[in-house]
Amino acid sequence: MYDVILVGLGGMGSAVACELARRGKRVLGLERHARGHDRGSSHGGSRLIRQAYFEDPAYVPLVLRAYELWERLERETNKDLMTLCGGLMLGQRGSRVLEGSLLSAQVHDLPCEVIEAEELRRRFPALAPTRETVALYEASAGFIDPGGAIDAQLDRAANHGAELRFEEPVVSWEAAGSGDGVRVETPAAVYEAERLILAPGAWAPALLAEMGLPLEPERRVICWFEPEGDAEPFLPGNFPVFIWEPEDGNTFTCFPLVAEKRGVKSVFFRAGGAPCDPDALDRRVREDEIEFIRGYLDRYVPALAGRCLATDVCMYTNTPDEHFVIDLHPDHPQVSFASPCSGHGYKFATVIAEILADLATDGATRHPIEMFSSRRF
Ligand SMILES: Cc1cc2nc3c(=O)[nH]c(=O)nc-3n(C[C@H](O)[C@H](O)[C@H](O)COP(=O)(O)OP(=O)(O)OC[C@H]3O[C@@H](n4cnc5c(N)ncnc54)[C@H](O)[C@@H]3O)c2cc1C
Repeated sequence: MYDVILVGLGGMGSAVACELARRGKRVLGLERHARGHDRGSSHGGSRLIRQAYFEDPAYVPLVLRAYELWERLERETNKDLMTLCGGLMLGQRGSRVLEGSLLSAQVHDLPCEVIEAEELRRRFPALAPTRETVALYEASAGFIDPGGAIDAQLDRAANHGAELRFEEPVVSWEAAGSGDGVRVETPAAVYEAERLILAPGAWAPALLAEMGLPLEPERRVICWFEPEGDAEPFLPGNFPVFIWEPEDGNTFTCFPLVAEKRGVKSVFFRAGGAPCDPDALDRRVREDEIEFIRGYLDRYVPALAGRCLATDVCMYTNTPDEHFVIDLHPDHPQVSFASPCSGHGYKFATVIAEILADLATDGATRHPIEMFSSRRF
């Protein structure tokens, strides 16, 4: 008998396993794929972290706590998991990215700078902003290494006694009506525990089917481009992470160059996605998909519009309002679940782990999660 069975050991699940094990819980973690796999939502080398949250100021207290917990993980594991190289949120006046970031910075009094186009060109010569472009600069923004973080969290969980089983998919789960106990079935065994946490990423629609949540997996493309000429302007310290909302609203992001052979990573935030079945994901990246991103780089970061060195595909799990779902099961208080994606969840993994561990152990959390309620749909 375990205290908690945890389904999914990806971005969220590995953080939850680490948090529960550090609280002394007897944890069984079950993962359908291999350790550190690239079949879900958390691979691709980097994930943005930022504070002036354009999506909603309500995320700011959570992200500030997430930073503290990422730093604690770095200290405890002696690993560099975050690179705080500075970040730009770019757009025209009135754009969601710019105005939303300014609002969050103002509401939460975050240390940020507003930079106009001319100054942007001077400070970040790799960028080619239009005259109307304005940016919010945040020195504490940067990126996390999700592969390194997942590995560190799984190691820490195992060191604290968690039992972690890979390539063992959960095929069904059931909860006793009384609020005590769960049974989970895999092809190998049936397991029992007092509590169940579901963190299945893009497989949430299958595992939470009876709840009828409007969760939609979406195929996303990642590309890495070789800088033309000198690579120096693209190294962390010279090149910030950025989210850029051009006039047509096709927001895209870039990360600094971390491995020269791989190139500079660029992805669209929302444009170019397609609904997908996580078990039949088309992993080939078409030339027109690469060309679509290259067109924006040609206009806004011209030295990156050359050779595409690598591509990958990954999945979002979207909600209609693009906010997360994190909740207790409405009929079974011993079951909690999280679908914190819609393309922006990874940076919160450490604080979401704290929330899910609270829900599983106390049935409640001090963190503000009302906006993530499953009852809102
Ligand atoms: C291209 C791209 C760019 C992104 N950029 C950012 C960014 O810059 N910043 C940011 O904060 N976020 C970003 N995100 C979002 C972020 O990556 C996700 O929010 C996060 O990875 C979701 O983690 P997860 O644990 O829910 O999913 P996953 O990491 O996929 O984990 C779910 C796990 O559950 C397992 N599983 C599923 N079903 C079962 C089952 N039945 N039995 C056992 N195991 C099961 C899966 O195999 C998987 O390992 C991005 C996402 C993508 C795709």
